[in-house]
Amino acid sequence: MPDSIRFGPAGIPIDTPGEGTAAGIEYCGQIGLGAMEVEFVHGVNMKEEKARIAGEVAKKTHVLLSCHAPYYINCCAKERQKIHASVNYIVSTAQAAFWLGASPIVIHTGFYMQRPAAECKKLVYETYKMCFDEMEKRKISGVVLGAELTGKKSAYGCLDEIIDLAAHFGLKNLMPVIDYAHYHAREKRLGSKDDYLAILERMEAGLGSEAGKNFHCHFSGIEFTGAGERNHLPVSSGSPPFAPLAAAWKENGWSGTVICESPLIEKDALVLQGLWQKEGKR
Ligand SMILES: [Zn+2]
Repeated sequence: MPDSIRFGPAGIPIDTPGEGTAAGIEYCGQIGLGAMEVEFVHGVNMKEEKARIAGEVAKKTHVLLSCHAPYYINCCAKERQKIHASVNYIVSTAQAAFWLGASPIVIHTGFYMQRPAAECKKLVYETYKMCFDEMEKRKISGVVLGAELTGKKSAYGCLDEIIDLAAHFGLKNLMPVIDYAHYHAREKRLGSKDDYLAILERMEAGLGSEAGKNFHCHFSGIEFTGAGERNHLPVSSGSPPFAPLAAAWKENGWSGTVICESPLIEKDALVLQGLWQKEGKR
């Protein structure tokens, strides 16, 4: 039961001996973590051979991989050129993920740029549809797009919007990726188990019980202002707290992957894993 949730760092662990993605994956396995997110946040530059080798290491060490797409994406950009560039970033991340055997690829969907959410939603639907068409053309399969709950109020991707996207395209194609720190900064302060249960219930109401069977989420502490996130903090900040979330997952029987985005990526992933295992023994 406690092992139904895997934990891993957002990127190559800081204390990895050696360099590169494959070494990072191997180190995750050694220290007892079961997941790692490969970061393409500043661009996708991984060649096929390197990706396939890293994918083999992941299989051997039982480390489940996901990817993070570049930050420069805006699926509801005003300019066509920026939409096409966004499709390109998403599809190249999906291509690398396909070689790696990774899924989902986590995406910050876009920015409202002072427009009504409904106007942006239409563009977002169109852009993601273009991504799926292009992925099909390139025979990229088994890679789910993960729409992340974004941290700033100016960004497309509040909880209702990412649930809507997953409902629109189907969970097998697009899944919501809850970043609990972002939710805490942007929507509502999280403190108790009930606060977390309310989120899980909204997911299940919008997407059915499937939503909790193989979730993908981000967790860390966070510093924020009225506009939303400022920067990620260590888990020890307790803002938001993790133990009540672990209790909520246990109560609802959820399972999946937790990627730790604290500055102490792998050390805090182990801290979270420890808290989850403690919850399982209760
Ligand atoms: Zn992100």
